[in-house]
Amino acid sequence: MKIFFLITVLFFVTACTAQNSKNVNSTNMPSDTTKYNSLTPQEENVLLRKATDRPFTGDYFNKKDEGLYICRRCNNPLYRSDDKFDSHCGWPSFDDEIEGSVKRVPDADGFRIEIICTNCGGHLGHVFLGEGFTDKDTRHCVNTSSLRFVSKEEMAKLPNVIH
Ligand SMILES: [Zn+2]
Repeated sequence: MKIFFLITVLFFVTACTAQNSKNVNSTNMPSDTTKYNSLTPQEENVLLRKATDRPFTGDYFNKKDEGLYICRRCNNPLYRSDDKFDSHCGWPSFDDEIEGSVKRVPDADGFRIEIICTNCGGHLGHVFLGEGFTDKDTRHCVNTSSLRFVSKEEMAKLPNVIH
């Protein structure tokens, strides 16, 4: 009798957990990959397989226009042009992110800190601390393939974007 009771409780707990995770996915994160932007093979290599763009390639490492950098995969606003600086490293560099949009995780290499898009989990690059480039002492070294630049004019047309 006791065992039957336990099994019944477990069943309900499991069912409840499954329901919760389903709810989280449908509200916060598009788990259905068809909802994401289509990507080029290089963008897939970077965002999904954590590859790295060759330095000094792409349109953004030297870009100084005013606007917003959003996730190439899911349009999550990641960085403001105000936080971009020239590190001469060959990749777009930012000393701050839009709050809550970038997650830091230990890199598989055991010493670097990987940065991923909080919304879709896409690989962005790495964050380095203590290099002294700017007052914030932080360098988000981001792959151009992970980003899409949106100008001020385009920003005004995008829904749900932080200005
Ligand atoms: Zn994303």
